[in-house]
Amino acid sequence: MIRQTTATVHLSAIAHNCRAIVDMLTRESTAAGRPAPGLIAVVKANAYGHGAVPVARTLEAAGASMLACADIEEGVELRRAGVGLPILVFGALSLSDLDGVIDYDLTPTVSTPSAARRLAALAERRGVTLPCHLKIDSGMNRLGFRHDNLGRTMPAVVGSPHLKIEAVYTHFATADVPESPFLDEQRRRFERALAALGALGVGRCGRHAANSAAMLRDARTWYDFVRPGLLLYGIVPPPLASSLPLRPALSLSSRIVAVKGVRRGEGSGYGLRWTTDEPRTIAIVPAGYADGLDTRLAGRGVVLVRGRRAPVVGAVSMDMLAIDVTDMTVDPGDEVVIIGRQGDDEITAREMAAAIGAIPWEVVCRLGARIERKFED
Ligand SMILES: *Cc1c(COP(=O)(O)O)cnc(C)c1O
Repeated sequence: MIRQTTATVHLSAIAHNCRAIVDMLTRESTAAGRPAPGLIAVVKANAYGHGAVPVARTLEAAGASMLACADIEEGVELRRAGVGLPILVFGALSLSDLDGVIDYDLTPTVSTPSAARRLAALAERRGVTLPCHLKIDSGMNRLGFRHDNLGRTMPAVVGSPHLKIEAVYTHFATADVPESPFLDEQRRRFERALAALGALGVGRCGRHAANSAAMLRDARTWYDFVRPGLLLYGIVPPPLASSLPLRPALSLSSRIVAVKGVRRGEGSGYGLRWTTDEPRTIAIVPAGYADGLDTRLAGRGVVLVRGRRAPVVGAVSMDMLAIDVTDMTVDPGDEVVIIGRQGDDEITAREMAAAIGAIPWEVVCRLGARIERKFED
């Protein structure tokens, strides 16, 4: 290892979070006299920046029923690494190179008429019946067949002898907006769509809808599978709270590479956006926006050094940032925790996101390719 800034991914935390979710689903479903939903573990975007292949292998061993990726390329990466669980591809597929779906045994989403046509043609050409999941747009207005127009759109999809609809799903727009009644509205639209699909000849199949936030908010969204992403990584979607015993899976740390005094009236960094009217001591940390650290951390973020909080001062540069360590005794080589625990204190991805007006998904997904991921148990 050469660089100072590294992310440590605790695979045991991901396994623990997965089991905590499965246990909760099992306990609550059993209490309600229902079968527990299976877990479709979302590992898109390099497993939210955590490293797709090790995370997928961990989730496979920890009891996930299926994995989900954004596109065919992500699914192919997992298959090439030997991942055997079924893999759902969320993306649109209307322009993709589709052969990978069959060559790598991926489960595509049929979410547009053109995807349906192209997948059916591919399956016919390859002489197979292709298992797929059908996506219903219940109000997000992104991908999926409109919930209120299925009589028009479904005959072509259902009529294809080459597509086998294994499951039907939808996605919620406002699951993390507790005051919005739209989650409930989408859930009711989805249920009406399921009934309509039955009448249109879609046979019995799996149903799924819940991302992390919906899963926490309403057990009626669980159906046959839930689709959490963020929770698996140990982060509760803001502003929700959860009693699940989750552990953050990723920490990000670096080391101080330089310490220097800034005199009265001087500034630091591009634009000299931070200036001081009294002598201050700053330390330079070799992590910047090229590593995925948001430029909005300037003046808003904090890091942990020697168990204390040090504010990020001045502009975040491409490859480094500065922190104010006045009144602290620090030396080059001291550990700097950007996300994670040091001593008794912890900075979570959720806290960092809140400090800069971002969302925790963004904070972890953006961690740069330059940052080495160390995988630990
Ligand atoms: C990303 C994604 C999820 C997981 O969302 P979280 O909020 O991270 O739980 C579930 N379903 C779909 C369709 C997604 O794109």
